[in-house]
Amino acid sequence: MDEDFSIDPDNLLHAINLMSRDYGFVDPIDLPVALPEQGMGSSSVMDFLAPSILGCAARLGAASSFAHMDPPTPWITWAMSLWNASLNQNLLHPATAPVARHIEQRVVGWLAPFFGMTGGHMTPGSTLANLTALWSARECAGINEVVASENAHLSIGKAAHILGLRFRALPCDPSGALIAESLPDDLTRTALVLTAGATSTGAIDSLDLVGRAAWTHVDAAWAGPLRLSKHAQRLAGIELADSVAVSAHKWLFQPKESALVLFRDTDQAHAAISFGGAYLAVPNVGVLGSHGATALPLLATLLAWGRQGISARIEHCMDLAEQLAAFIKGDHRLALYTEPQTGIVVWRPNDIETFDKLLKQLPVGAASTTTIARQRWFRNVAANPNANINLLITEVQKALQ
Ligand SMILES: *Cc1c(COP(=O)(O)O)cnc(C)c1O
Repeated sequence: MDEDFSIDPDNLLHAINLMSRDYGFVDPIDLPVALPEQGMGSSSVMDFLAPSILGCAARLGAASSFAHMDPPTPWITWAMSLWNASLNQNLLHPATAPVARHIEQRVVGWLAPFFGMTGGHMTPGSTLANLTALWSARECAGINEVVASENAHLSIGKAAHILGLRFRALPCDPSGALIAESLPDDLTRTALVLTAGATSTGAIDSLDLVGRAAWTHVDAAWAGPLRLSKHAQRLAGIELADSVAVSAHKWLFQPKESALVLFRDTDQAHAAISFGGAYLAVPNVGVLGSHGATALPLLATLLAWGRQGISARIEHCMDLAEQLAAFIKGDHRLALYTEPQTGIVVWRPNDIETFDKLLKQLPVGAASTTTIARQRWFRNVAANPNANINLLITEVQKALQ
C-alpha cells in the first residue's frame, strides 16, 4: 500500500494551517534547474513551497483588491476542489464520473434559463466557450465569417482564426459599445458576436441586435451573472441569442477553470460538435477530451448561497463600483470615462502627467490600466465583495497630493 495515495489528515490539516500563516516579505522561489533525482517527500514539499506560493500571491479578497476580473473564491470551493483532486473523475467516462456528469447537467440546467437558453456544458473558460459556440455556429448555420466590435475580447478573433472563418471588427461608440449602423447589410452567412460587459470598459453592446445575423452569440463572460441579480434587465435581449458564454471563474466566484457555453437549441448544437470513439460509452461533446468535475465547486456554491446569495454579492459589487464612480465624478482632479454599466470603472487624472505617479503609488492590486483610443486610463473591476472603497479613495487622494 503506497500511503501517498491515501487520506493523510495530519498533512492535509497542515496544508490548511499553512494557508493562514503570515509570511512577510518572501524571496522568489528558488527551484532546482533540473528535475530532482530524488524526491523530498510530500510533507516537506508543502513547507518548501508555502512561503513563495502562499506568501507571494496576490490576495484577491484583500480590502484594496479592485483591479481585475478574478474574484476571491469562497472556501466551500476550496473544499470541493480538494474532493475533485482526490477523486479525479473524468466526465468523458460515465463509469468514473457517474455523479459528476449528473451534477454538471443539473448546474447548467439551473443557470441556462436565466439566459433564455435550454442547456450547454462547462468549459475551462469563456475563451473556449466562445470557440465552442462559434464552432456550433459554423456547423449549424453555415456561417463563414464572424463580426464583432473592435472591443470584443481577443478570444473572438482567435476562435475565428482557429475555425477558418473571416473576422471583421466593427467600430464602437464612445461608451465602448458596437455602433449598430456599422453592421454589414448581408448577415446571412455571419455569426454576430455581441459583448455583454466588454473587458476594457464594461460596455454592453445593444442586445436589440440579437437575431440580425444567421447566428448571434453573446459573450457575457464577465457580466452574464448580472442575469441572476436585480440588474438582469441590463442584459435584456440576451434570451433571444443562439448561444451565450459566461465565465463562472469571474462573477460567480469560482476557482479557475470554470465557465459555461449555453445554447438556445442545445440538442442541435451538441449534435453538431459531438464525436464518438470505440472506447467511449457516450459521445464526446465539445472541444475538451478528458475533463474533470468543474461543476462540483459551482454546485456547492449555488447550494450554499442560493440565487439570493449570489445576487447579493454581485449587487454589492455593483454598489462598490457606483461608490467609486461617484467619488471620481465629484473630484475635479479626476475624469470618469463613462458611467459604469457592469461594475467596471474607468477613470484617469485630468492632469495626465500625474498618471504614472498615481500608478506607482496606488497599492498593488488596487487598479489596473487600459488603453482606449491611445489614451491610458485606470480601470477598476468590482469582482471583490470585500473591497473597501473608502480605503481605495483614501489611497487615490494620497497619491494625488
Ligand atoms: C474574460 C473574458 C473572456 C475570456 O474568458 P476566460 O474565461 O478568461 O477564457 C472573453 N470575453 C470577455 C468579454 C471577457 O471579459
